Amino acid sequence: MASPTRDTDPRAFIKSFGCQMNVYDSERMGDLAGQAGYAEAAGVEDADLIILNTCHIRERASEKIFSELGKLRELKEQRGQMGRPTMLVVAGCVAQAEGAEILRRQPAVDIVVGPQSYHRLPQLLREARIRPGVVDTDFPAEDKFSQLPASRLDAIRRRGVSSFVTVQEGCDKFCSFCVVPYTRGAEASRPAGAILDEIARLAGAGVREVTLLGQNVNAYHGVDRHGQAIGLAGLIRAAALMPGIRRVRYTTSHPNDMSEDLIDAHRDVPALAPYLHLPVQSGSDTMVKSMNRRHRVADYLDIVARVRAARPDIAFSSDFIVGYPGETDADFDQTLALVSAVGFASSYAFKYSPRPGTPAAEMSGQIDEAIKARRLAVLQELIEDRRQAFNRATVGRRLEVLFEKPGRREGQLIGRSPQMQSVFAEGPRSLIGALTVVEILAAEPHSLRGRIVSPAS
Ligand code: SF4
Repeated sequence: MASPTRDTDPRAFIKSFGCQMNVYDSERMGDLAGQAGYAEAAGVEDADLIILNTCHIRERASEKIFSELGKLRELKEQRGQMGRPTMLVVAGCVAQAEGAEILRRQPAVDIVVGPQSYHRLPQLLREARIRPGVVDTDFPAEDKFSQLPASRLDAIRRRGVSSFVTVQEGCDKFCSFCVVPYTRGAEASRPAGAILDEIARLAGAGVREVTLLGQNVNAYHGVDRHGQAIGLAGLIRAAALMPGIRRVRYTTSHPNDMSEDLIDAHRDVPALAPYLHLPVQSGSDTMVKSMNRRHRVADYLDIVARVRAARPDIAFSSDFIVGYPGETDADFDQTLALVSAVGFASSYAFKYSPRPGTPAAEMSGQIDEAIKARRLAVLQELIEDRRQAFNRATVGRRLEVLFEKPGRREGQLIGRSPQMQSVFAEGPRSLIGALTVVEILAAEPHSLRGRIVSPAS
């Protein structure tokens, strides 16, 4: 979005829910709002255009959005009485899943737009000004990314030194619990040239770390500038060579798409950060099969071993679902055993909750909420214990930290280690955006405290 030039400029506020891809989409919607003449608002209070970029993954996601919309309707009505119109937009996966139902339940909404058609936002805004209540949840034939305006350099600079770049969207895996294949559609990869052009623009505005994003990012299968097929490993190698780019990350991956080439990239590309988020969901083969993950737990452990052989300092993280239909105490114990065996640096655990329209929602053997809650508490305690052990093991080591922003205390900087740990140290602001060697002095509950030992590189 543009910086406001006059107090009377219309302003837009985008509230992003859920995953990193939604964060990226929200930034691009900000670019589109800027193209449509909106400056950036600090919050809903001073916004003339309010966009909720929604997520459908969490429990009761739709209900939470309708509750939020109820409050925004009141705001819109109050402003309407003062002659100040406000435009309400629901975007993202709830918009895709609920479509016109959103307008039926909350008529104050002006636009419902899905994740595959938000590039049409300026046109939808024009339509909604004439006739509110526009719904666009198409999967259009045109390439969304080629229709998006390039981000303005000042907008990129405001985002900081680390940026997301969506390279792939959608998923063909159809895990039994997941709505993504329905809300984001089939796997589709952007052409490598367009991605590298975007990374070059980010680097030109001061970005030093890019995270290549996709719902199933390691299934990336694009074409290069010569029309030749290129996978994620090739894309990572090319991104790592871009002037100004010091670190490359990617997320989220499926175990079945961890190709040999990608594992080799962890060995061969120093700029590829030693951190891999590789969800396994359960340590029980019975559960993994029922989830339609199409691999065995042993396959997962084999991948972990091969990636570790390629890059011994790599940190792993995973997602886990507890209380999936049919999960027994023995299945759950196998999940605990897997967490201990891998030694994850961090992980996310969730109670299973049915998503309408997914096969798991119809399965017998749904687990009692109290059992789910107990298992979740046990698993989270183990994950936290492993995370702290991983962090303690870094005390006394020297890590290359990319400082991202000033800390809360005067003179403090906050950045990330290669393994994604949050690190803070005393240092000048000039180090923001530079890779700096930091000696780790202590592992605090949520971050590492360090001392800068080398000049920036
Ligand atoms: S691989 Fe991931 S995005 Fe695709 S269906 Fe499974 S959980 Fe959903």
